[in-house]
Amino acid sequence: MVRRLFNIFKLGQLPAGARIAVLAPGVAFCLAFLLSGWLSSAAVAAIAIALAVIGAACLREHADPKPLAEAPPDMPTAVLEGISDAVLILDSDRAVIVANRAARDLLGDNVVGRDLALSLRHPEALDVANKAIEGQDDGTAEIVMHVPVQRVFVARAVPLQMAGQPRFLLALQEVTAARNAEQIRADFVANVSHELRSPLSSLVGFIETLQNAAHDDEAARDRFLGIMSEESHRMARLIDDLLSLSRVEANEHVRPGGQLDIAAILTGVADSVSVQAEEKGMAIELIDLEAQPTIVGDQDELIEVFHNLLVNAIKYGHDNTTVRVAVSTVDRIPEVGGRGISVAVIDKGDGIAAEDVPRLTERFYRVDKGRSRSMGGTGLGLAIVKHIVNRHRGRLVIRSEVGAGSQFIVYLPVFAPAADQQTP
Ligand code: ADP
Repeated sequence: MVRRLFNIFKLGQLPAGARIAVLAPGVAFCLAFLLSGWLSSAAVAAIAIALAVIGAACLREHADPKPLAEAPPDMPTAVLEGISDAVLILDSDRAVIVANRAARDLLGDNVVGRDLALSLRHPEALDVANKAIEGQDDGTAEIVMHVPVQRVFVARAVPLQMAGQPRFLLALQEVTAARNAEQIRADFVANVSHELRSPLSSLVGFIETLQNAAHDDEAARDRFLGIMSEESHRMARLIDDLLSLSRVEANEHVRPGGQLDIAAILTGVADSVSVQAEEKGMAIELIDLEAQPTIVGDQDELIEVFHNLLVNAIKYGHDNTTVRVAVSTVDRIPEVGGRGISVAVIDKGDGIAAEDVPRLTERFYRVDKGRSRSMGGTGLGLAIVKHIVNRHRGRLVIRSEVGAGSQFIVYLPVFAPAADQQTP
């Protein structure tokens, strides 16, 4: 009887302590009423059983561990969706079972449910998947996708077990940015070596000529020495510009804090290049220098900016023209914001074709290589200008018209009391 009651009310499923807690008040209640003789023994038994049932129900409610919510069947997809690399899960026939968002963006929405080869036409990546499926060593492969833009990925596959089934995870990790950076670095080193090698081989050649054929030819000797002097100066300028560029790049994240007078900087630079201008019959006109607000910056760097721009205006401007340097204040620096001044260096030269304008600030980019070299250019001047202006949280804007001339406009922030200096 007791066992049956235990089974009916599932008291047996409770821990021993809980069973005592459930039964004790009922038993105590029954004994009290039996002894007092108030109720019949049947009624006492019924009340005791009712109390035990209520107690057991309460205890089970609190004691039973709640069953865990079942993991949703699409759990792997939900986790993979948040990963930025393209991730696919394949079965042993190489059919795609799961593809995360990045994989669907890369390979198309219909990638799931089909052989991977129908969506990913890269033998190297398929080979990586095949090797994982065949249980061979998991390797990696670098693949290049050309459409719509060139992107580079590293494909990697590993075997898995999902619900007891053999599965294979294929990840396509994008490494385009890293490969581009490596390419830029390699190009830079190649460019620097090339730029240094040509004056160097010219020097070596002239030295050999002077030692042999031109040994006793006074006229040739003077001419060759002149060229050698030019070439060695070009090498020195190139090294100076490279050092300058790397110094500016290293500090680009630190905004300079000096308070400067733009009029003093421009007057000093104009004086320093006046001889060069006079050699071409050119004049430099400084416009609206007076009463300009104080600017924030690094004096030496800003001298370098305006020196490079004025030298270019003289080099690429036509003989007997005037280079104008016009200063004005602006309420908002384009794209950057904040009050500033603009300094426009305006020449009357050949101008620059629209397709070349966006590339002028790239290192070693020259519209006409031969012309730049013959005028002693390094191809680094505008790259330095751009980095310095960026460091000042300013902006460089280039406007040019073929046949009419060019304007290089530098925007720089003006000094403002602390509350206004929000830009990091
Ligand atoms: P470079 O030492 O060759 O002058 P820069 O970086 O200063 O190098 O300039 C890059 C190229 O931009 C130059 O080779 C030239 O083709 C072009 N350029 C620069 N300034 C001017 C200008 N004022 N007018 C026409 N072309 C210019």
